[in-house]
Amino acid sequence: MPALNQKTAKPAAQPAARNAPASLASRLAKLGLRTDMDLVLHLPMRYEDETQVLSIRDASLRGGQPCQVEGVVTACDIQYRPRRQLVVTIADDSGQLVMRFLNFYGSQVKQFETGNRVRARGELRHGFFGAEMVHPGYKIVLEGAPLPTALTPVYPAGEGVSQAMLRNAIAAALTRVDWNDSLPPALLATLEWAEPAASFEAAVRLLHNPPSDIDEHALIERSHPAWVRMKFDELLAQQLSLKRAQAARRSQGAAALPVIGELSNAFLMTLPFTLTGAQQRVLSEIRNDLRAGFPMQRLLQGDVGSGKTVVAALAAAQAIDSGFQAALMAPTEILADQHFRKIAAWMEPLGIKVAWLTGSLKKKEKLAAQALIESGEAQLVIGTHALIQDAVQFAKLGLVIVDEQHRFGVGQRLTLRNKGSTNGDVSTPTCSAHVRLQADTATQAGGMPPEFPASPLTLPLQGGGYHVVPHQLMMSATPIPRTLAMTYYADLEVSVIDELPPGRSPIVTRAIDQNRRDEVIERVHAAALEGRQVYWVCPLIEESEALQLQTATDTHAMLVQALPDLAVGLVHGRMKPAEKQAVMDAFTRNEIQLLVATTVIEVGVDVPNASLMVIEHAERFGLSQLHQLRGRVGRGSAASVCLMLYLGPLGGTAKQRLLTMRETTDGFAIARKDLELRGPGEFLGARQSGQAMLRFADLETDQWLVEQARDLAQRLLHDASAASAAIVSAHLARWLGLREDFLRV
Ligand code: ADP
Ligand code: MG
Repeated sequence: MPALNQKTAKPAAQPAARNAPASLASRLAKLGLRTDMDLVLHLPMRYEDETQVLSIRDASLRGGQPCQVEGVVTACDIQYRPRRQLVVTIADDSGQLVMRFLNFYGSQVKQFETGNRVRARGELRHGFFGAEMVHPGYKIVLEGAPLPTALTPVYPAGEGVSQAMLRNAIAAALTRVDWNDSLPPALLATLEWAEPAASFEAAVRLLHNPPSDIDEHALIERSHPAWVRMKFDELLAQQLSLKRAQAARRSQGAAALPVIGELSNAFLMTLPFTLTGAQQRVLSEIRNDLRAGFPMQRLLQGDVGSGKTVVAALAAAQAIDSGFQAALMAPTEILADQHFRKIAAWMEPLGIKVAWLTGSLKKKEKLAAQALIESGEAQLVIGTHALIQDAVQFAKLGLVIVDEQHRFGVGQRLTLRNKGSTNGDVSTPTCSAHVRLQADTATQAGGMPPEFPASPLTLPLQGGGYHVVPHQLMMSATPIPRTLAMTYYADLEVSVIDELPPGRSPIVTRAIDQNRRDEVIERVHAAALEGRQVYWVCPLIEESEALQLQTATDTHAMLVQALPDLAVGLVHGRMKPAEKQAVMDAFTRNEIQLLVATTVIEVGVDVPNASLMVIEHAERFGLSQLHQLRGRVGRGSAASVCLMLYLGPLGGTAKQRLLTMRETTDGFAIARKDLELRGPGEFLGARQSGQAMLRFADLETDQWLVEQARDLAQRLLHDASAASAAIVSAHLARWLGLREDFLRV
């Protein structure tokens, strides 16, 4: 497709484009509009009806509905009360109307010279001085100037890109693109929803220039057949791409890890508990995946405290039993350290070498750890981001486990996955027969987005070796509703632990006005005297880390003073890892009864004796964050309590969040509510997923279309004919272009 920047100079009538063609192109690029097809698929978010002009009298009967009137300027003043504003009066045969502009330029004042004719569009209201419009859209016109015959589209715009620029760029693109329908008429005829006229071109043209007699409601609700066609196309592209990614993954080589041997068995034997039914189920799903010769890509979801760690450790045991290394990466030092201690305590007695690698290690220790990893002596490696640094070379990495995966960016997960064996040494007796290597998978699909260093699918052949893609297990306690997980995340299998280990008592949650803080301190005291431990979480202050730190220190000082007979500790993000560690250790050993913490403890911390959680300024936290925080208690058998201190009055969503927390401890219910309150984009984080793809379809309301798209994708991919293959590639090229690779991670 042609580059945009030569083309934008073309509509010479556009001064902005003429003055700065290159920068318009780059501003459009910021909106994701690089090619003509990008522009064509940049569909309006709403429409304005400028096809009719009402008389001022008729308009004033419309009761605040948006409408368009036309009149001649009879007065134009700048007034200063109640604040500076431009006040313009226009009149037609039926009456007069005042337009008010609170922000205006000098040039606007000149436009409203008495006698000039103005077409104004806005909501007409009845003010003190009669009919008026505040900040109407307007145009200076000549008498009898023709009215538009189509509704006027309003596009999602961005900085430095006006509606007029977008309209021009899109109009030009509409004349240049290749209109070939990726779905031939015969195919469309087989789809029950599709109207005969719902060709791609017709649909797109209609949405950019809807005729004035269109069913406006259907257009705005996006239920018009033209919209349905767009949504279907988009969903079909997503489904096709998902299925292709799956096929591509299955054609990649991975070491089969079939052995459930000595370590796995001994490990299960020595565990102080038996696995729950849910843990057993997900474990067998993982075990099956690891046996296959293609890379597993599985998300293990389980509510906080559901026992994901032990499942991960058992997966690692299978890799080790099969003669490979496993790596476990956690997002924070505290969490990585906890995993290390717990898992090393399980495995080292069984003769397994577990290496520990984080950024805070001294150089010498780091080098020693790297040597262990490189030689293969370390069978299990646990650490933080430090695991993905260049210097770390694995001898034979068979399984990558990423805990709290949503905390990592796509790029970080990719890097770890790319740390499979690169030396060609995949020929141990346990695996050689299972390794299937296909160098040609590197040629899948288009290029990578620029921020990706290399395709995850490439199989570098340096030194004659192959790259074996390790199996990947991602874990998350932020449960994602299943439909979302399936449609948003690329090719990803999902396992769910939907049962908590036995003997947990439910957490009682209360919201308490913060002026009752003294009572709360009293409860903390009482709990500590009963031998229980307490977290006190300081408020989140997003604007300023320094302020957050200050608050944590102040809170600590306040509690030390208020509770002189308790050992009160403090842990925050700015402490050195060793200091943090020392505090966490003391808390784990019950030498600290009350731990004041910033949100560093949000993730994964596991101290079963802690049974009271106080969250200050709970109204500032998001729902999933509150849930994660609360999940730090209720891990042992003691009845646990979570007290959410809030500063009233509460806003609407803050109230909803606290209510939800009070009503349920079910992570999935909370995730659904979170989704409802925030919308999917924010919920998943844009960088995480293929959500950038879905611009038109809505997973909630368009579920039926998702299913139709899934069926057709299946049909097309199962049909081996060249015609189907051509449809698939034409459709993907049109809808995804370069975006597809985002979906692979
Ligand atoms: P999460 O899923 O939040 O990562 P963890 O793996 O940290 O949860 O497990 C929470 C606690 O439950 C740990 O102390 C763990 O040892 C314990 N646990 C895990 N599985 C079981 C089980 N089947 N029976 C009893 N306790 C268990
Ligand atoms: Mg965990």
